[in-house]
This record gives sequence, structure tokens and C-alpha cells, in this order.
Amino acid sequence: MKVELISIGTELTSGQNLDTNCQWLSRRLAEIGVPVAFHTTVADDLADNVAVFALACQRADLVICTGGLGPTQDDLTREVIAAVSGFPLKEHAESLAHIKEMFARRGRVMPERNHVQALIPANAEPIYNVCGTAPGVWAKAGRAVVIAMPGVPSEMYRMFTEQVQPRLLTMGVGGGVFVQRKINTFGAGESLIEDKLLDLTKRGHVPEVGITVSDAVVSLRILAQGNSLADVQAQIAPVEATIRERLGELVFGAEDDELQDVVVRLLHERQKTLATAESITGGLVAHRVCLVPGASDFFRGGVVSYTDEVKARELGVPSALLQQHGAVSEEVARAMAEGVRRKFGTDLGVSTTGFAGPGGGTEANPVGTAYVGLAHPTGCEVIRYGWIGTRNEVMSRTAKLALNAVRLKLMQA
Ligand code: AMP
Ligand code: MG
Repeated sequence: MKVELISIGTELTSGQNLDTNCQWLSRRLAEIGVPVAFHTTVADDLADNVAVFALACQRADLVICTGGLGPTQDDLTREVIAAVSGFPLKEHAESLAHIKEMFARRGRVMPERNHVQALIPANAEPIYNVCGTAPGVWAKAGRAVVIAMPGVPSEMYRMFTEQVQPRLLTMGVGGGVFVQRKINTFGAGESLIEDKLLDLTKRGHVPEVGITVSDAVVSLRILAQGNSLADVQAQIAPVEATIRERLGELVFGAEDDELQDVVVRLLHERQKTLATAESITGGLVAHRVCLVPGASDFFRGGVVSYTDEVKARELGVPSALLQQHGAVSEEVARAMAEGVRRKFGTDLGVSTTGFAGPGGGTEANPVGTAYVGLAHPTGCEVIRYGWIGTRNEVMSRTAKLALNAVRLKLMQA
């Protein structure tokens, strides 16, 4: 079976916005065993759209498009499907009622222009849109099933997940079940991780195990294919167990877990409190912790102590220490962590100091050098790391280094 995805919008062809819908859809389709043969992007032009759809309906059995379902003059998708399928547009009463209701809920009257969103080709069915006005369209044109969904990613994700995917599966589209399991690690490089897993990552291993790196997080992806969910889960479970056993504390989570999610979960489990003293990361550690719901129960606060003066005044870092060792040093990282722990009366105090670049740095501590201090009830440890990367990367990775230090300490608690 051939599948073609079409992204519609001049904002995409002009380079103003990136087409993320095709990427997302291709991944979702791969998960249900449907490979995609074509990605086409076309501007908001009627003749060009008709040409693109006519070709797609000849060479593909399933055509899924996003965009162009809005109420404005550049939204042409309904018209295009009508032209290509040969069925004229007809008003769909229930869709019109839904659109009117969406406006009424916000205390507004539906503008006349939105009427067009209730029009669909006579042979087509609307696809209900839970979170927006524009219904999707499920139609037939030539040999192809044509599915049109809204361009707004959040609306499209829900429509596909809740309505389109289940219906594709009942049609018998796809080749079995594909499941991907992602295991996230922090603290070792890609090659070191692979060295421990060479038997699993070799080509041809079933299930397939791949390694990807993103901003210092190395992830293992186990990709299994089988006839049923139980079948693929049985393939994944022993491989996941082996990976976790061999990598131990390097593994911090799975799927979309971030270090801060794990940190907040552990703070909650161990009933410990945390405070931050940040120089090089400028508040990023605190920000990431606060992104996690429930952080307020265990995160007391932090100090962005960017200058020596603030390090001394707010955290009690001795001026002599700053002068003797410099702000980017093991001694200052330790004094910052201990100072913030004292100031906020927390179980743990974590600090960051370093040179993010591009300027600065010394011979002993070149650009990319970062120190993370972790003060706890029985002492204070400092780790040093040398990153290679842009300012942004050095900051982000140092924040991860700090969060990981907190995680490891909490795991011992
Ligand atoms: P439309 O349904 O064509 O009115 O699109 C509404 C909005 O959704 C556009 O302004 C874009 O911001 C976004 N959008 C449309 N198509 C895509 C796409 N392929 N990838 C990411 N965003 C998109
Ligand atoms: Mg558009």
C-alpha cells in the first residue's frame, strides 16, 4: 500500500514555518506498520493543490493532508477534494451546529465566513473536531482514501489519535504492531554506552536496538514488530531489563522522562527539599525543576548569583575564596552549594559555576568548564566537567549535570 502525506500552506513553502505535521504523522503511521512513500508540501494555490491531489490520488492508496481547512479565502482544501473527487460541496448540518456552538461557548456569534467550514464533498464524511471549529474530511477520490485534517498541530494530533488511527486499524491498514521503547541515560557518552551493549545494538538483532543522543542525554530505542501488543512487549521486556542491569544508575527514565521529572519524583518519595545557587546556568536548573507539577512542595527557591558580589552577599561565599580561586572553581562551587542550603534551610543545595563562552575561560578552566556542587546533611561534593559546545549547549548540559547530581544523591537517600 502506498501512502502520501500532503502539507498545505504558503507559510510552509515560503520557509516561514517548518512542516512538523508530516514528521509526526509519519512516525505515528510507522508505529502501526504503515510506511509513508511521499511527503508533498504545497502553497495555498487552488490549481497547484488540484494538481498535487490528482497525482497523489493516482499513485497512492491513502492520502492524508493537513492544513487549509480554516474559514479564510486561502483555505482551499475542501474545494480541492471536491474537484478531485468529482463530488460538489454540500452543507453538513451537524458540523454547522458544532461550529456555531464553539462560538457560542465563547460568547460570540459565528461570523458568516465560518459557514464554509461546514461544507464537505457530497460523498465524504466529516471528522469531528473536539478542539476546534474545522471538521476534518474523510473522502474517496479515484483509488485513494483521502483524509483531510486541520493544520494546527494540537488539533490534528487529537483528531488523528482519537478518530483517524482507530479507523485505519479497523480497515485492516498496516502490517502488525510496532512499538518503540525509549530508555534515557545521562552521565556517559554514546560510545561508552554502546560498548556495554554491543551484542544488542548489532545489526539484525531482534528487536532492533538503536542509540540516539540529544543534548547530552543518550537514549536507547528498542523497536519491536510483531502480530500483537503482547508479542512485541514480550520482545521488549527482556532487552529493557538487560539494558537497565548493565547501565545501572546511568539510566534515569523512559520515554519522555526528563531529569527534572525524576528529581521531583525522588524529592517527593524521599520527602527532601532542594534549593539552587546558579551562576553559569542563570536560573535554568530552578526553571526546569519548576516545570514539573508538584515541584512547589519540595523546591524552596534559588539564587541566580551571577556576580562575585552577589555570591558573597546572598550566599556567604567568602571574598577571599573568590579572589584566591576565582568564581569558576571547586572551592566556590562548594561554598555556593553550602551557602544556599543554609540560606533556605533545605536538605539539599545544588550550585553551578563555569564558563559558558564564547569569551572568558582560563588555561586551567577553559570555556566549557563547569563545576556543580551538591551540599547535603553529611557534606558537599563537587564535580567538574568540560563541555564542548555553544553557550546555549554548555548552559543546558550543565543544568543537566546539576539535576543528575541531585538525582544520584536522592537515590542513595
Ligand atoms: P491551516 O489549517 O492551514 O489554517 O493552518 C493553521 C496553522 O497551523 C498554520 O498557521 C500553521 O501555524 C499551522 N500548521 C499548518 N500546517 C502545518 C504543518 N504541516 N506543520 C506545522 N504546523 C502547521
Ligand atoms: Mg493555511
